[in-house]
Amino acid sequence: MSYEFIDVHCHSEYSCCGEDVTVAGYGDIARTTSKVFALTDHSAHSFFPPDRKWGLWSDEAVELFAGCREAGEQRIRDYLVHVRSVQTGGMLIGTELDIMPDGRVIYPQEMLGGLDVVLGAVHALPTLRHKRPQAEVEDEFRFQVLRFGEIGVNALVHPFRLLLGAGYEADEALVRWTVEVAADTGMALEINSHKQYPDHDVSMVRIALDRGVKLTVGTDAHRWCEFGDFRYHTAILEQAGVDRAVWDDVIWHPSVPALMAAAGG
Ligand SMILES: [Zn+2]
Ligand SMILES: [Zn+2]
Repeated sequence: MSYEFIDVHCHSEYSCCGEDVTVAGYGDIARTTSKVFALTDHSAHSFFPPDRKWGLWSDEAVELFAGCREAGEQRIRDYLVHVRSVQTGGMLIGTELDIMPDGRVIYPQEMLGGLDVVLGAVHALPTLRHKRPQAEVEDEFRFQVLRFGEIGVNALVHPFRLLLGAGYEADEALVRWTVEVAADTGMALEINSHKQYPDHDVSMVRIALDRGVKLTVGTDAHRWCEFGDFRYHTAILEQAGVDRAVWDDVIWHPSVPALMAAAGG
């Protein structure tokens, strides 16, 4: 029997890197199937000005942030009004939260508590963009991970993607450190299939479960063909030797009231 994963990480056209995925399409899925999933668009893509949606990833990020704070927060409120008008069935609403390099939240902070799922993602490291040495990049990475713990996100997503994708290392010491922060702050850690790093994921899963840290499963769908495809997550759990009988206990799920509300209960 196949395990019913809840995909807590999906994108729509509101994420600039989304390809064919749409809010309307998620609404259709929620209306016509029993799938449970969370829409978690990148907060920076709604917050930064429409002509500078990638502003967080530029050297002008701080100025842009200061200049658009009110308008950016309003764009996120407008976004929430839109997605909630489509929300039905098993469709949950969350965010893939971005933070500034100094740790400021790119979101109307008081609204985070009203979301079903808050994911934290290390997406933008100026030191990495400027190709600084490993130690400096790692310091900046650690700062952001600690900040997400402090904010109280539900899960840290694709924890090592940015480092590994740019050719930096995420050695076992860094994986262990990240798991410790997650254990101390109650964050889950994500198995993400959008870009796959199986060796790191298997090692992270083993260390996380040893420390009692929960996992989340995200397809991080940017294309419909990714949505609902849990083959990678299944393979990682199996390779890490996690018995199927305990998957339900080790995988973090959004709270039952949120699920019931989403199902109209
Ligand atoms: Zn991401
Ligand atoms: Zn994502």
